[in-house]
Amino acid sequence: MKYLLIPVLIFLSCDSNPENTSNELKANIILSEMTLDEKIGQMAQINLTVIAKGPSKWKSSYPLVIDPKRAKKAIKDFKIGSIINTINGKALKPSNWRESISQIQNFAIDSTRAKIPIIYGIDGIHGATYADGATMFPQQINIAASWNKQNAYNMAKVIAYETRAIGIPWNFSPILDLGIDPRFPRQFETFGEDPLLVGTLSRSMIRGFQGDKNDTSNKFKVASCLKHFVGYQAVISGKDRTPAYIPDNVLSEYHIEPFKEAIKDGAKTVMISSGLINGIPVHANYELIIKTLREKLGFEGVILSDWEDINKLHTRDKVAKNKKEAIKIAINSGIDMSMIPYDYEQFCRFLIELVKEGEVSLKRIDDAVLRILKLKFDLGLFDNPITDFNSYKDFGSKKHNELAYKAASESITLLKNKNDILPLKNNPSILVTGPNANTMRGLNGAWTYSWQGNLADEFAFDYNTIYESVSNTFGPSNVKFIPGVAYNEEGSYFEMKEVNIKKAVDEGRKSDIILLCLGENSYTEKPGDLNDLNIHKLQSKLARELSKTGKPIILIINSGRPRLITDFEPLMDGIINIYLPGNHGGDALADILSGKINPSGKLPYTYPAFPNSLLTYYYKPSEIQNNNQGAYDYVGKVKNLYDFGYGLSYSKFSYSNLSTNRKVYESLSDTIHINVELHNNSKVDGYEVVQLYSSDLFAEITPDVKRLRDFKRIFIKSGESKSINFSLPINSLGYYNNKNEKVVEKGEFSILVNNLSTNILIK
Ligand code: BGC
Repeated sequence: MKYLLIPVLIFLSCDSNPENTSNELKANIILSEMTLDEKIGQMAQINLTVIAKGPSKWKSSYPLVIDPKRAKKAIKDFKIGSIINTINGKALKPSNWRESISQIQNFAIDSTRAKIPIIYGIDGIHGATYADGATMFPQQINIAASWNKQNAYNMAKVIAYETRAIGIPWNFSPILDLGIDPRFPRQFETFGEDPLLVGTLSRSMIRGFQGDKNDTSNKFKVASCLKHFVGYQAVISGKDRTPAYIPDNVLSEYHIEPFKEAIKDGAKTVMISSGLINGIPVHANYELIIKTLREKLGFEGVILSDWEDINKLHTRDKVAKNKKEAIKIAINSGIDMSMIPYDYEQFCRFLIELVKEGEVSLKRIDDAVLRILKLKFDLGLFDNPITDFNSYKDFGSKKHNELAYKAASESITLLKNKNDILPLKNNPSILVTGPNANTMRGLNGAWTYSWQGNLADEFAFDYNTIYESVSNTFGPSNVKFIPGVAYNEEGSYFEMKEVNIKKAVDEGRKSDIILLCLGENSYTEKPGDLNDLNIHKLQSKLARELSKTGKPIILIINSGRPRLITDFEPLMDGIINIYLPGNHGGDALADILSGKINPSGKLPYTYPAFPNSLLTYYYKPSEIQNNNQGAYDYVGKVKNLYDFGYGLSYSKFSYSNLSTNRKVYESLSDTIHINVELHNNSKVDGYEVVQLYSSDLFAEITPDVKRLRDFKRIFIKSGESKSINFSLPINSLGYYNNKNEKVVEKGEFSILVNNLSTNILIK
């Protein structure tokens, strides 16, 4: 039997019409020849450091050198099927990647009986993260703020290209978590708080990664990985990997919804959430993984664990008595591949034992391995395990960087513009100040040339910080930089130190305009957990002191989540939220300040005003009860600093004549045709994002005050009027009831666009 495999493979690769042999069939043929330990090896994923030369399992020598002894043990002896990540959490030169991945693939093919290539995976969430010289787009939160599907598609297409260029075919992106909690350290990785926006943009990213026809064997495409299934960011504490309590109908209505269409579109893989829902770690949740993800949503691809999460069923969550039981629970719950990522010997040995003891069925193992092998075929790895590196001339090219600039410029969101102070006029003298004024780390956030983004200033040295871009645009002699306060680079990312507030204030007095750049240092996951949503007190001190100069202050907010600025917001003349705009964020911002670009971004999350009033825009009506503490305003809505969907422009837009084709609809299969007039009453051409909402006025489960149903980003010239149409199927007004069934309840609904509304009746 041992010798059969090779002729079978030769037969396959000689097939004159490969389309006749489907990838599943090919995978099945290989599977039928595999031994148990070969199968288990395919289910194991290890960290690159495990086979790299270096002093310890955490630290490797740099640049990367594959250690032949360690590689032999993992790949030949234990038949490991997948590798991830970089070494030392740090970017490598493309040539270092290429040589190392080629070496790994050659080794896997030459030294193992089954000759199955390795599938290498990486977290390229806003660029080919760990490749020196890669194009860095804004983070997903910015793409959401641009409300432009094309930006999501462009970003994914470039990431796919640049990831394949270094020999990697699998990307752990997009992130479909709902960014509903401003305290959570990964909100910036999401498309914001709205399920429709999250779902729509994720689908564009999948197309960008996998291609229009899902041909992932194409050398410019990669397999996507939807993460983190599911409910990951809806935690009670606001901290990473802590418990969430989510009723089934709420899970379906908001959290599962974005995954649904993404799965129908053919996303190849899904990563399971590191969190717990209702006390059950998601990695141990058979109902969610098998019953919902596999059976209800029909997902056919590979289900991957998150980092060390099978072990954590024992070590952290205490639902398994030991590590072996943890493996049994997770694999039987439907995990196909374990991101182990270090102790692979233990994983492989325990899983082999479990199969031999009848605790995990061979059927379950075969099911997992078949999906993994099929994925490797889908990616063309059997035919082309080694990338032809000469075909990637656009890696880090001008063309790619222009797309990143475009996404950044469309995402930046103007929140306040007192007396039309912006764009800046008459070539003013400018003081640029604040801890985020002169850092590429701040602009990019985490997953930028290193896990925590802390090396961005070294790797993105050639790009411009805010100060550099403003200086280039307004002239070096007009622009001064004095930080005032700075981050402590040692210790916690959130600690700050006073540098020279007095000097900044003195310089502010001499300048026409103060550009105050506040926010956060880069972070993600546990290191980004936060105890206080208020912006650091030294930053608010700097803002207050500068306001004493009487000079106009433009506040630039550069952070991964909306930190509270309510106490000094009234002292600011202009406010621009740039989120985490990537390598071109400084240039895009300077172009907005000068008026070269007319801002068009809109908030993809609610910007809260108070620490105890952290609600998404789709809250329940009972939130609006007068408690006389100012968290409720008298027009009948929760008071935020800025609402979801808000963002100003240098144009002035107005809306009129909102209408529907009928007032009464009698069939649930009907479509509501909606029309609204949009006017640009200004001298400036601009883009407006027209947002369509609905409200169910009465329902069995208390309805949300409103829900986004559609949106269009429209270019409209100065003085022009445009008629905007939406088609809204009645069934999109449904919701998940107490029995977790989607229903459309008959009755009255409001259709809302901007400040207009009209009611319809479903009979
Ligand atoms: C994160 C995932 C990531 C994985 C691999 C985990 O800690 O939660 O989002 O894909 O690491 O780097």
